[in-house]
Amino acid sequence: ALSKVVKEIVRCTNFAALKHKDQRRKDKQQTPYVNHVIGVAHILVSEGGISDVSVIQAALLHDTVEDTDTSFYELQAEFGEDVANLVKEMTDDKSLPKAERKALQISHASQASYRAKLVKLADKLYNLRDLRRCTPEGWSEERVQEYFEWASQVVAGLRGTNQTMEDALDQLFMERGVEM
Ligand code: NDP
Ligand code: ZN
Repeated sequence: ALSKVVKEIVRCTNFAALKHKDQRRKDKQQTPYVNHVIGVAHILVSEGGISDVSVIQAALLHDTVEDTDTSFYELQAEFGEDVANLVKEMTDDKSLPKAERKALQISHASQASYRAKLVKLADKLYNLRDLRRCTPEGWSEERVQEYFEWASQVVAGLRGTNQTMEDALDQLFMERGVEM
């Protein structure tokens, strides 16, 4: 029989796909947004060596509260308190101005739990690879470079968590000439 874990992961992936169905990435091809959250979960299992099911679920759900009509109560009811609390750690306060949210990601990174740090590392790794793959619609090279520099400051607060993902991030920062 299909294991309970596999069923939970598929249910969670389906939930994310439904929630993000109308959302697209910022690339020219308008890639479905759900590719991002599945990709983050894939980085955790394939590169991070992570087998903590709640962490993988949190990766799949990490942008649902921030970007869709999903509430924490809904996540709690569907996937339990552990997963909901991890997603909470991944969610920016959207009532704050963008610049403030970006600054808070830098100053709060080191206070995240170990498991939230894992998802944050995978999230940054995915987004930086996406930016290397292609420049989003309307972005200048300068803006891409600024994003790498901001990301390196967030990653500074996440270090000492997962060597493989941190090494992959360092490789990307080095390619861009970003100081670490
Ligand atoms: P971001 O600059 O934060 O956009 C990047 C975010 O978009 C990522 O963190 C990612 O978040 C998501 N994303 C979606 N598609 C892609 C993709 N293909 N590649 C990488 N990331 C993707 O936010 P905004 O676009 O809202 O811009 C606001 C900020 O940009 C301001 O802080 C401002 O200072 C700066 N800015 C700079 C300009 C410049 O020319 N230098 C011009 C205008 C703004 P997720 O993980 O949630 O998917
Ligand atoms: Zn994300």
